[in-house]
Amino acid sequence: MRLKLQCQSKTRQSNYTVQCRGRGIACKNGNVRCKNHAGRSTGPRTTEGKLRSLANLLKYNEQRIKTNSRD
Ligand SMILES: [Zn+2]
Repeated sequence: MRLKLQCQSKTRQSNYTVQCRGRGIACKNGNVRCKNHAGRSTGPRTTEGKLRSLANLLKYNEQRIKTNSRD
């Protein structure tokens, strides 16, 4: 019998208490995720894409800090 990987995510419908029963895919960072929980995603590949994603991350963090300090 072959070893089956199970997705490690918790389902949103169960309010994060029930584990997803999907067939898992081992990710680069060591997590096991099914195709519905970003298991197929490999992230940005080209230099342009990596820079764009980094810019988006920085933008998001700035926005987050601004909204938090307002409260
Ligand atoms: Zn899953």
